[in-house]
Amino acid sequence: MIKTFGLTSGVPLFPPLPKLTNTSHDAFKWLWKSACQNKHKVFFWLLLNDRLSTRELLKRKNMVLPSFTCVCCTLSVEELVCHLFINCPFAQLCWSSIGVVVGQDDAFTTLENLKIQLGVPFSMDIIITMCWCIWMQRNDLIFRGIQPTQDQCHRHFGKEFSLVILRAKVGLKQFMSSWLEAHL
Ligand SMILES: [Zn+2]
Repeated sequence: MIKTFGLTSGVPLFPPLPKLTNTSHDAFKWLWKSACQNKHKVFFWLLLNDRLSTRELLKRKNMVLPSFTCVCCTLSVEELVCHLFINCPFAQLCWSSIGVVVGQDDAFTTLENLKIQLGVPFSMDIIITMCWCIWMQRNDLIFRGIQPTQDQCHRHFGKEFSLVILRAKVGLKQFMSSWLEAHL
């Protein structure tokens, strides 16, 4: 009997984590070319691979939590990656604060749509930073009891993106600063 299978039922105790999609998508190239800090890139790599520690992932790992639902909205739906960053009304408010719309598409279609909507050479930096800020809002509520708001997320985005600009290629800094100024 394989160690990861239950002794009686044959049901895997630790089923393999499903992937959002294959890892050959161009998003993985875009990710590593970003000017974001490494911690943001690793976070986004985990997100794309559906390895981010959402409540749904913890459930897949058979962890016991009082609740597996999203804390950022009142829909009482399971906290899946796609919900947290795309379908959640709170996430949609956060994206709208920088002038873009996310719908009901899967992660990679949403990523492609966001790049088109943003229409700038640093769109991946914007997307990674906003996802990070949404994740931080969620963590602040779970671990510090701070209620997430669109304003807080937007302010945090402004601060984080200013730091991304410092790390960006010289030729893009002015363009990025102008974009940020227009979206603050
Ligand atoms: Zn939600």
